[in-house]
Amino acid sequence: MVLERGEVANSWRHERWDSLRLLTPNWLSRLPGYPYAGADPDGFMTVADVVALISGYAAASAAPVRTQTTVTSVRRSEDGFRVATDAGEIRCRTVVLATGAGNVAHVPRLRQAVPEAIQSVTALDYRNPQQLPAGGVLVVGASASGVQLAEEIHRSGRPVVLSVGEHVRLPRTYRGRDVLWWMEASGVWNQRFDEIDDLERARRLPSPQLVGTPERTSLDLNALRAAGIEVVGRLAAIRDGRALFSGGLANQFALADLKMERLLDTFDEWARSSAPGMEVSATERFEPTRPPVAARLSLDLRSGEIRSIVWATGFRPDYRWLDVPVVDHRGALRHDGGVVRDAPGMYAIGLPVLRRRKSTFIHGAEDDARDLVGELARYLAEGGRSSAR
Ligand SMILES: Cc1cc2nc3c(=O)[nH]c(=O)nc-3n(C[C@H](O)[C@H](O)[C@H](O)COP(=O)(O)OP(=O)(O)OC[C@H]3O[C@@H](n4cnc5c(N)ncnc54)[C@H](O)[C@@H]3O)c2cc1C
Repeated sequence: MVLERGEVANSWRHERWDSLRLLTPNWLSRLPGYPYAGADPDGFMTVADVVALISGYAAASAAPVRTQTTVTSVRRSEDGFRVATDAGEIRCRTVVLATGAGNVAHVPRLRQAVPEAIQSVTALDYRNPQQLPAGGVLVVGASASGVQLAEEIHRSGRPVVLSVGEHVRLPRTYRGRDVLWWMEASGVWNQRFDEIDDLERARRLPSPQLVGTPERTSLDLNALRAAGIEVVGRLAAIRDGRALFSGGLANQFALADLKMERLLDTFDEWARSSAPGMEVSATERFEPTRPPVAARLSLDLRSGEIRSIVWATGFRPDYRWLDVPVVDHRGALRHDGGVVRDAPGMYAIGLPVLRRRKSTFIHGAEDDARDLVGELARYLAEGGRSSAR
């Protein structure tokens, strides 16, 4: 059975901003045995479209979902697990943790030093610019959420300062095709967890600077600066009411540009070896990210210039309800490809690079689910220990 504390597609109904569209094109928005069947494969779904997609899949698959049922604890028992819910206890031999990678906003501890007069909002609470007071906004974080929110808030007429740390730059289109077509076709997205050199790091990588718009625009830092958004370095500290930013902006930009170029090189190499009809002899590259001449290194948060801060500093899972010692000191689940360590019969799905680079994306569920169901079925059949294969 599938237990859900809210409704089907709960995170999409209650934890997304109003204007959000998927950054993955429609043709990628598929679930196992349930491909996209609409008339606009290259478009990008709104939140309402995603709710309809997942609800449609729940109905078509006839998944035994029990909604409005919150799991409050999972404990080991002699023959499996005891799952406590607000609607009674369930005993089972195996459990799959599919509670999402981003239940809570990850906000750095320095938030505590923000002056009281400033309103703080996270990317999970943010709905639209009208929710923010008039006046300047500091957006912290320049991954997918940060760049999208900075752009929308700036369009509402508020001055925006965007604090940029490590980020992943991607053009929306490359050689006339969506960059995510290249990720899929070249096999980069399918790279398995046990083939990745630095898996810990791959699992912590921020989301790419991408937005899904009908115009297929690239939302990189050059575009944001051209629109009038001020870019500053990583928020390093808040001291006596002053936000202090790192001076390493030019380095951050150069690193993100270099990584993007390496990825584009990988796409070209794949095209040369595996897509014979594709013309990739001429180089196609993008303008380097231009650093500001003199980025501000500090900003007085008591001066009235900034009235609100939007924390777009990432998300993390919430496992406080899990009474099995499988979470490390940073709150991350210890697992090998979704097979939870030291807890035979417990599995996870939907976490970053769980089994493949695409694991946290909607279309990533299909291959991961197939692999994990194989593990789980083997475990039940053999009654022994399972290991990631
Ligand atoms: C801002 C944002 C934008 C994104 N954009 C894209 C995109 O463009 N394309 C894409 O492919 N992916 C995108 N994603 C990733 C996307 O969230 C996942 O692809 C997909 O929603 C993950 O589904 P999931 O079921 O693993 O997790 P979730 O959607 O988080 O679902 C987990 C479910 O578990 C329930 N739950 C949690 N705890 C309990 C409990 N204790 N008891 C009972 N139920 C519980 C929750 O209510 C929730 O419904 C985005 C994510 C975010 C945060």
